Amino acid sequence: MPTQIAPGIHQLATDYPHVCGLPLWLHVIDAGSELVLLDAGIASTPEAATAPELAALGLGLGDLTLVVNSHAHPDHMGGNAVLKKHSGTRFAAPALEAGWLEDNDRLLTELWGTDPAALELSEGERTEILGILDDRVRVDILLRDGDLLPADRRLQVVTTSGHSPGHIAVLDEPSRTLFTFDDVQGRGRPFLDSQTWLAPLYTDVNHYRDGLNRLLELDFDVLVPSHGDPLDAAAGRRRIVESIEWVSDVDSFTRQLLRTRGSLTVRELAGELGTQLGDFGGLCLQTVQMARAHLELLACERLAEPRWHLS
Ligand SMILES: [Zn+2]
Repeated sequence: MPTQIAPGIHQLATDYPHVCGLPLWLHVIDAGSELVLLDAGIASTPEAATAPELAALGLGLGDLTLVVNSHAHPDHMGGNAVLKKHSGTRFAAPALEAGWLEDNDRLLTELWGTDPAALELSEGERTEILGILDDRVRVDILLRDGDLLPADRRLQVVTTSGHSPGHIAVLDEPSRTLFTFDDVQGRGRPFLDSQTWLAPLYTDVNHYRDGLNRLLELDFDVLVPSHGDPLDAAAGRRRIVESIEWVSDVDSFTRQLLRTRGSLTVRELAGELGTQLGDFGGLCLQTVQMARAHLELLACERLAEPRWHLS
C-alpha cells in the first residue's frame, strides 16, 4: 500500500527486495498537468509492483506522463521499456548518462568492464543483468543541473554525480523533500537476506564528495533515498556527513596500504576494501569501482603512478 510522504507524493513499494535482496522505493508525484514517476525499478517492477501500487491510489501505468530516471543503473531504469509499452509517458534523465540509458552494451562495458583483471562477468551474470535491464528507450528530455522538471510544481534537478557520472537529486520545493536516490550511501547497507553488506559505489572520488557537500547546502525537511526509509533533516544531514567520512576513510586506507606495499592493483585494493573496511564480500562491482576511483585520485595528485605490464 503506498505511503504518502508529503502532499501529492506517494512512496511505492517494488519487487526489488524479493529479486535482489535490497529495499527499493519509487515515488509518484501529482504535479498538476503531469503525473511524475521518479525512477522505474527493474524490468519486472512496473507490472509486478508499480501497477498494483498505483491502482491502490486509483491510478494506472497509463496515467503516467513523465518518468524521471535518476541515473543509469538497472534498478532505476530497467522498467522503462515496460512503462513505455503501457503509457504515453515521456522519459527524462541526466544528459550526462544518455549514452548508458540508451545502450545496454555500452553500460555493461563501461561500468562492469573497466577492470577485467579484477571483475569479469560470467555469461550467467551478464544474462541476469540484461534481464533486469530489458530494452532501452530513448530519453526525451535531457536534464542538466538547475533544470526544473517540466511540470506545474517546482521540482529542481541537482546534479550530484559521483555514484554514477551524471546522477541527479530532485528537490520538491513545495514540500522541501529531497530525493537523493543512490547518492547518500553512508558506509553501505546490509542485504535483507544475508550477512554481507552492499558497499558504497562511486566512480569518481571528487565528484562524489562534491555532490554530497552540495546536498548539505540545500534546504530540505526530508531526505528520501531509494534503498531506505525517509530521514528527517537532522538524520539526513548525519547520513550525508557519514557518507563523506566514508570517502575519507577509504582515502586514508588506500594511502596507508600503498605506503606499506609499495604498489597496488585495482584488484588488490578492491579485495582489501571489500573485507577490511566492511563485510562486502571482497571483489564486487562496488569495491572495484571504489578502488579504481581512489587510485585514480592518487594518480591525479601525483602521489602514485599508474603502470601497465603484460599479463
Ligand atoms: Zn545506483
